[in-house]
Amino acid sequence: MTLYHGSCFCGSVSFEAEGDLSSGTLRCNCEFCRKMRYWDMPLPDPEKFRVTNGAELLAETPRKKNLSMDIHHFFCTRCGTRMWTEGDAAEFGGRFRQVCVASLDNVAEAELVGAPVFFADGANDDWFFPAPEIRHL
Ligand SMILES: [Zn+2]
Repeated sequence: MTLYHGSCFCGSVSFEAEGDLSSGTLRCNCEFCRKMRYWDMPLPDPEKFRVTNGAELLAETPRKKNLSMDIHHFFCTRCGTRMWTEGDAAEFGGRFRQVCVASLDNVAEAELVGAPVFFADGANDDWFFPAPEIRHL
């Protein structure tokens, strides 16, 4: 397990999280992930995470009216950088938290390149099955 440090582009918000990039990351074809160019690393323990600076500048992406899932996407209100998602959903095994790979700071390029990526078919609410097409993601 690695203690990762992450932050937004302007540096106002920072966090740390325990995870392991080599155990897998996720991209997805749902509307949210497509528009946000989302790429995340699920945390094995959602509680091994803390905001170390700038919590007062965080905001949540507004929810779609038809979305019933307990899921929250956090970003910096100064610079717009998306940093993590958390929630509680049976589909994801209960309480979960996943950090945006792009917001991690102490990661060598080779580690990013080598991180396995699973492309999920979230567009069909089928997150554990591969997306049929990924070239546009
Ligand atoms: Zn910022």
